[in-house]
Amino acid sequence: MKIARVESFRVVAQRDYEGSAGLRAATVGASGSSRPRALARNDGRHLCVYPAQAEVLLVRIVTDDGLVGWGEAHSPPIPRVAQVLITDLFAPQLIGRDPLAIDAIWDALYASMRLRGYGTGVMLEAIAGIDIALWDLAGKALGQPVYRLLGGPYSTHIPCYLSGVPGETVEDRIRAARGFVAEGYTAMKLSVGRGPLDEDLDGVEAVIEAVRGDADVLVDAHGVYDARTAVAAGRRLERAGAGWFEDPLPPEDVDGYAALCQALDIPVANGETECNRWQFLDKFRKRAADVILPDVCRAGGISEGRKIALIADLHNVRWCVHASISTPIHLAAGLHLAAATPNFLLCEYPQSFRTTPLANALVETPLRPVDGFMDLADVPGLGVSFNRDVFRELCLDEIDWI
Ligand SMILES: [Mg+2]
Repeated sequence: MKIARVESFRVVAQRDYEGSAGLRAATVGASGSSRPRALARNDGRHLCVYPAQAEVLLVRIVTDDGLVGWGEAHSPPIPRVAQVLITDLFAPQLIGRDPLAIDAIWDALYASMRLRGYGTGVMLEAIAGIDIALWDLAGKALGQPVYRLLGGPYSTHIPCYLSGVPGETVEDRIRAARGFVAEGYTAMKLSVGRGPLDEDLDGVEAVIEAVRGDADVLVDAHGVYDARTAVAAGRRLERAGAGWFEDPLPPEDVDGYAALCQALDIPVANGETECNRWQFLDKFRKRAADVILPDVCRAGGISEGRKIALIADLHNVRWCVHASISTPIHLAAGLHLAAATPNFLLCEYPQSFRTTPLANALVETPLRPVDGFMDLADVPGLGVSFNRDVFRELCLDEIDWI
């Protein structure tokens, strides 16, 4: 069996969208009703831009005997960049290779540009798309779910948290949070960092209070604070009983994270930015994370995710699946890895997954938690199949179905 084709497809939630048009700039302060004090202002310089539309890059690998594997590269808002890397750099290295030599392929792709300084970012997102497609293909070739090829399952009943409690006002968010509790979720995540700090924390405390005893509230600050602000905010969250404090500092401030982990009693979570095992090793050696959130479609795929999870376990750190602008391929890749690692904690289930066509109409069977858990089926590969008509409708590239 040899790799015969390597292709990638930009899929967007709205067909008339042209890649990267209409970026949503980072905005701050929009939700704040009071005038921020000079010392408490947030200029938003650490916040990311987002695409105007949900967009993903899906990767298809086809063998000479007609087997197909699908992967996903998490690449907003520049899926065309990952696409060029796959077409021009990786596909020529893959054609004719044994698709089951997954670690050897990963190593070759990573090595192909490392001396030129490409060991992270979109390079690893593109490798992730290929790696996940190879695991899906291996599962189909061997008639086994991916989690079994990875040595699992520890469990196929995966706990999830609802990510993003929506609402314009605190009252709206309390209502939404209570609704998620009624659906069976025992953990959910709120964002802070776009408004005045005190107002943000008042809102979080109100939501924590509203679901106390039923659900843990996790808090994501998107890397906007300095170290002292993060310690002060963290202490308030500690007193309120938050479940964790995520990304309070910019990702480059590893020493700041180590000091914060030391200072706070609640877990400090980070790691959605890091893309390879060496970045995580540095973090663990400095004790700069209590919980990590690697994104399997950004951090080199299932193969690298497994190594990151193992290195985390060596340091007694647990990991969570990160997902955001994604399809069920992304979520399934994270879930299969979760099922096969002993130190997995929680899977992120983005609020947008409830409505976006990328997570619903695009696939034959959407992935939806029941009572806050997702169950993995015992089917070959990742277990995701597409609705071909919807795929063609939402895809910006030509596809011929095999
Ligand atoms: Mg986050």
